[in-house]
Amino acid sequence: GEQEISFGIEESLKELAQLADTAGLMVVGSSFQKLVTPNGRTYIGSGKVTEIKDAVHALDVETVIFDDELSAGQLRNLEKAFGGKIRVCDRTALILDIFNQRAATHEAALQVALAQMEYQLPRLTKMWTHLERQAGGQVKGMGEKQIEVDKRILRTQIGVLKKELETVRKHRRQYRNRRVSVPIPVVSLVGYTNAGKSTLLNRLTGANVLAEDRLFATLDPTTRRVQMNNGKEFLLTDTVGFIQKLPTTLVAAFRATLEEISESSLLVHVVDISHPLAQQQIDAVDKVLSELDVAAIPQLMVWNKVDKASDSQKIKIEANNREDVVCVSALTGDGLQDFCDAVQARLKDSMVWVEALVP
Ligand code: GDP
Repeated sequence: GEQEISFGIEESLKELAQLADTAGLMVVGSSFQKLVTPNGRTYIGSGKVTEIKDAVHALDVETVIFDDELSAGQLRNLEKAFGGKIRVCDRTALILDIFNQRAATHEAALQVALAQMEYQLPRLTKMWTHLERQAGGQVKGMGEKQIEVDKRILRTQIGVLKKELETVRKHRRQYRNRRVSVPIPVVSLVGYTNAGKSTLLNRLTGANVLAEDRLFATLDPTTRRVQMNNGKEFLLTDTVGFIQKLPTTLVAAFRATLEEISESSLLVHVVDISHPLAQQQIDAVDKVLSELDVAAIPQLMVWNKVDKASDSQKIKIEANNREDVVCVSALTGDGLQDFCDAVQARLKDSMVWVEALVP
């Protein structure tokens, strides 16, 4: 589609770097190569392999991430070529890692585990050939048998996980409506990766205050407490961001990590309004939200990075005219009071809504 066309190599690598950052890695450099077809053995050409090998050793790099999915053979050949100690992974594995870190509910954890196993299954090939080498080729075929055994075990585990997921889902559908008394309202941030969700979260909560973090040590690291100036509090929680190039095999896992937002009192949809594809990103987020069970939850849209937008004055006026939009800059702090006021106003509504459910 049009969106994909304008999403070029550099944009994709930028997003990959952002994802690596989200996963807790420090990005020291990136590089790309234009080939008619990827190299079957090493994905990139041999000259590029040497170039990257030299660079990673000079910079003392631990991990090299490829923006496309690699085969088992390519992963292994690249690790060998780079010299053993360096971990090679691909975009899919990186995203799975993030989902794994962010899976806040049992259901999400199961869904992510399932996706991880399905990712591993075709990559088990020849992992065991070292057994044959160690034995000096005397037990030829032994590695192959072991792969079959491993694959069978993995397939059985996948089957078990799928059944468990079904049970958990049924249970959630039955009990969803019973959960009513939330002691403190939860506000969930949703939106594209790079929209500025975590900057907003940190800005609002002064996340650098360690004492506060320790108080809430039982919460996952992406949830913070915000105190409003009327003394009332809410929990602000960040969700996994949307990704342009989400591998289709990860769609179910991504949705599962978002399921938890159905428990929140308010959804805040954070948009990078300075992004040329802002409207497409809004539409994509709305589409997924409409497929989740969140229709009853009030929503607030935040147009972030207004400081960066070329037509910021026009954008501010437009936001002012719309009830459902607040314009902010998480970076400069512009508009944050308006944001808190808007959240407060909507939470009041939602608390009434929650109380109305209590028998
Ligand atoms: P997330 O993926 O949605 O959590 O996005 P981040 O909070 O990590 O922000 C992505 C990038 O956008 C970072 O480099 C931020 O510094 C930058 N950013 C966030 N908010 C603003 C803003 O209001 N203005 C500008 N100019 N940059 C911002």
